[in-house]
Amino acid sequence: MSAALGLYRLQQVDSQMDQIHGRLKAIQETLQNDGELRAAMEAFSVSENEFKTAERAFKSTGADVEKQRIKIEQAESSLYGGKVSNPKELQDLQLDVASLKKHLVTLENIELEAMGALENAEQATQTAKSQLERVQADKSIQYNDLTKEGNALQKEIERLDSERKAVISGIPQPSVLTYDSLRKQKRGVAIATVSDSACAACGTTLTASQQQSARSTSQLFTCPTCGRILFAN
Ligand SMILES: [Zn+2]
Repeated sequence: MSAALGLYRLQQVDSQMDQIHGRLKAIQETLQNDGELRAAMEAFSVSENEFKTAERAFKSTGADVEKQRIKIEQAESSLYGGKVSNPKELQDLQLDVASLKKHLVTLENIELEAMGALENAEQATQTAKSQLERVQADKSIQYNDLTKEGNALQKEIERLDSERKAVISGIPQPSVLTYDSLRKQKRGVAIATVSDSACAACGTTLTASQQQSARSTSQLFTCPTCGRILFAN
């Protein structure tokens, strides 16, 4: 058995663990990034406030119209009530009624505009509410899926951890130290396989004697170019 075989297995386990840790990190970031949800909540809250403002404005214009109608009723009852008989006073009252009615039209137009604004605000609130509910539903599904995936990956990490302990127990301590330091230097890949008579990591062609050394059962042999430990079946 090649001296590098144990290290090769160790690296397979470590690479899988690296990959899983990377995925777990990405899952965590996705779960914590709720920008879309916050934006939808904010938009709904803004539209709700605008709706309330529009509602108050509409009520206030309605009250103005109502007050004006009462004023007109009062002026007309004075005009037609029979208590006033002086022609000058009657004429003044007639002018008052006409003027009050003219202003009523203006107030009614303002009320209509306020009603239109209220309807628009109500529509906008409904749209923002549907959007928020959609985002919440999406997030809920995504959250569940990612949480499930994360839990499964955690179990896989535990399994790989025991596997790693088993693999490492069969490797001489100095080899493990060499492996650890190489892994740090070579971005996680300390062991390179020999493939088509070349180092699979850097592509350097290996002589027959170098390939023979890579198969050595007694000592580790490193690639003359990239310095990784070579493993040949
Ligand atoms: Zn190499």
